[in-house]
Amino acid sequence: MKLTYPHMGEAYIAAKAMFDDIGIESVIPAYTTKSTLQLGSKLSPESVCLPFKIMLGNYINSINEGADTIIITGSCGPCRFGYYGPIQQQILENEGYKDINFVILDPPKEGKRKFLEELGKITGKQVIKPIKALRRAYKICCEIDRLNETLYYVRPRALSKSKVKAIIHAFRNDIVKTHGSEEILAMIQDTIEKLKSVPIDTSYKPLKIGIIGEIYTIIEPFSNLEVEEKLGDMGIEVHRSMTVGDWARNTIIRPVTGRKPYAHEKKLSKPYLPALIGGHAQQCIAHAIKYANQDYDGLIQIYPMTCMPEIVSRSILPQIEKDYNIPILYLIVDEQTGEAGYVTRLEAFIDYLAGTSKRKEMVSH
Ligand code: SF4
Repeated sequence: MKLTYPHMGEAYIAAKAMFDDIGIESVIPAYTTKSTLQLGSKLSPESVCLPFKIMLGNYINSINEGADTIIITGSCGPCRFGYYGPIQQQILENEGYKDINFVILDPPKEGKRKFLEELGKITGKQVIKPIKALRRAYKICCEIDRLNETLYYVRPRALSKSKVKAIIHAFRNDIVKTHGSEEILAMIQDTIEKLKSVPIDTSYKPLKIGIIGEIYTIIEPFSNLEVEEKLGDMGIEVHRSMTVGDWARNTIIRPVTGRKPYAHEKKLSKPYLPALIGGHAQQCIAHAIKYANQDYDGLIQIYPMTCMPEIVSRSILPQIEKDYNIPILYLIVDEQTGEAGYVTRLEAFIDYLAGTSKRKEMVSH
C-alpha cells in the first residue's frame, strides 16, 4: 500500500510520522503550486470551494508518484465538506483512476466504532501500534504549533528576514526526507532552536494581527498566498486562530476522551451565532472576540469564494468590529485571486492600523 493525503498546512508531517511508525509508506504530494490548482480546477465543479480543487490536484500528483490509497477526513456537517470525499472519488474514477482505494475517516464524534473500522482499512488488525502512533502524531501537531508560535515572534523582529526564510525553507525541504516520529520531532525541535538563535530587535513593538476564517484557507499557505510570511516580512506579528494541533484536539482527541470540542468558542460566539451552521463559523466569531480582548490591532478574515459558513460569519463580523472596536480586513480567495491586488490590500490595511494603533512605534523592518 502507498498511502497519500492532501496538503493542509503542516498536517502532512503528523500524518507521515503516524504512518511511518505504523509501517505504512506515505507518498506526500508535491507542495501545492499554481499548476496543482489548475489540475484540480480543470476537473472540479466550477463553483465548488477552493480547498476541493487544490486537494484534487494533490491526489493526482501523488497518484502519478505511485500512490494507490487516499485517506481524508470526512464530515457530516451542514457545509460542503461532507461531500468532498464521495465526489472527489467519483471524479477520479471518471478520469480513469479506477484502482485507487479511497478511505474517508469521519471524525469520532460521528461514531467511534465507525472511525476505528475505517482506520482499520489502512492499519489492518493492528491496534496498539496505531494508538501509540496516533498519540505521537498528536504530540507532533503540538510541537508544530510551538514552532509556528516561535516563528510568529521572531519573523517581524528578525534583523535578517532572509535568515528566517532559509531556516523555514530548509525545514520544509528536509522534513519529507525524515522517517518516523522520533526523527521528525528532533527536526522540529532543532528548527525551533535555530529560529530562537536568529538575532532580533528586542525593542521593536510590532502591530499584532489575528488571522481568522475558514480552517483550510488559513492553515494552507498556498491558498492564502503565504499571508503569514508576507505580513511577518512587513514587520507584523501575526497569530493564526486555527492550527493542525487545535484541529486534532477538537476533532479527534476530545471526542475520543468524552470531552466537548470547541466548548469555549461556542460559548463566546453564542450571542452572535447560536446555531451550528457548518465549517468553523462559530469559531471564527469566537476568535475575533478573543483577539479583540487580547488587544490585537486588527484581524484578517480569509475564506474561499462560495464558502457558506464564512459568508455568514462575514455578515456578523462588522458587528464585532463595532462592539469591540477592532478593524477587520476581509479577503476572499479562489483560483482567480491575483497577488498584486492582495498585497496592496494588506499594505493599505497595515497603513490604516498604524494610524489607529496604540502601538504607534510601528516601523517597517
Ligand atoms: S467550510 Fe467552506 S470552504 Fe470549507 S468545505 Fe465548507 S463550504 Fe467549503
